[in-house]
Amino acid sequence: MKVAFLGLGHMGLPMARNLAEAGHDVVGFDVFEAAREGARAAGLTIAEAATAAVADVEAVITMFAAGHQVIDAYRGTSDRPGLLAAAPEGALFIDSSTIAVDEARAAHALAEAAGHRSVDAPVSGGVVGAENASLAFMVGGADGDVEAARPLLEVMGARVVHCGGAGLGQAAKVCNNMILAASQIVVAEAFVLGERLGLSHQALFDVASHASGQCWALTTNCPVPGPVPTSPANRDFTPGFAGALMDKDLGLAEKAVALTGVDARMGMLARSVYREFVEGGGARRDFSGIIDSVRAQSDD
Ligand code: NAD
Repeated sequence: MKVAFLGLGHMGLPMARNLAEAGHDVVGFDVFEAAREGARAAGLTIAEAATAAVADVEAVITMFAAGHQVIDAYRGTSDRPGLLAAAPEGALFIDSSTIAVDEARAAHALAEAAGHRSVDAPVSGGVVGAENASLAFMVGGADGDVEAARPLLEVMGARVVHCGGAGLGQAAKVCNNMILAASQIVVAEAFVLGERLGLSHQALFDVASHASGQCWALTTNCPVPGPVPTSPANRDFTPGFAGALMDKDLGLAEKAVALTGVDARMGMLARSVYREFVEGGGARRDFSGIIDSVRAQSDD
């Protein structure tokens, strides 16, 4: 398939490379010169401008940091023409950025009004998942559009779940990460509580990992070194999933909670705990480093 890939950052570059290596005709673009250079060095074909990249493609994939960048790129700004006007009619727009549900719905509406097809397809799995094509895609959009996107998504990921209509891929992502944030905090609290009670990390792990406390935050992202040798706690909390990204995703959860009026006390408490973590220097540390904040704020 002829595909434009826009946004060649940490995630986008390896994703675009996997598509090209699978035989798709990929043309890339990034507004950041260093990202274009890196992509050229990785063997990708890079267009002179975003509008040139999308001029004669069947699909346009975007992988940006924020929702306003997606909307601005779709619609165009005073200094940059929009992608929707530049792409051939009926092109399939796939936005894999993590953005707010309402922003994703606005992007869908813009694409549809311009005569295009569109899906929101955020991912989990991080840079490692992008590199080894094991990402999980959560996809929102009409059945036919999701099926049209599936062959591309399956090249870049290991799992593609159609979550429902426009914006529901982003809804699934925001809900999942709210669970993850709250569970990572309480797992950290349990280990610190265990320490104070004289319980070894290994003993708590051996019990909870096979009991009702079992969860990903414990069995994969264990916040103490030892029980899970691959967890970030064993490498001084090098991410992994950085605190800044968790903070961003919880900001999207907060927006969704405000829009829906849900009583999400636990999720919003996790939101403020991670805000503090990032403000206290945790932006570049794995989010399981929250255990250090728990220790620091516990009474002596
Ligand atoms: P990044 O900042 O490394 O890359 C984004 C790129 O988009 C940048 O190079 C930027 O220059 C480019 N860009 C912005 N506007 C553009 C435009 N109009 N045209 C072309 N390029 C443009 O971010 P990332 O880490 O690759 O993350 C991308 C998205 O994936 C984010 O929404 C993030 O929340 C999500 N995500 C990231 C991870 C992770 O581990 N990094 C994991 C899951 C999801």
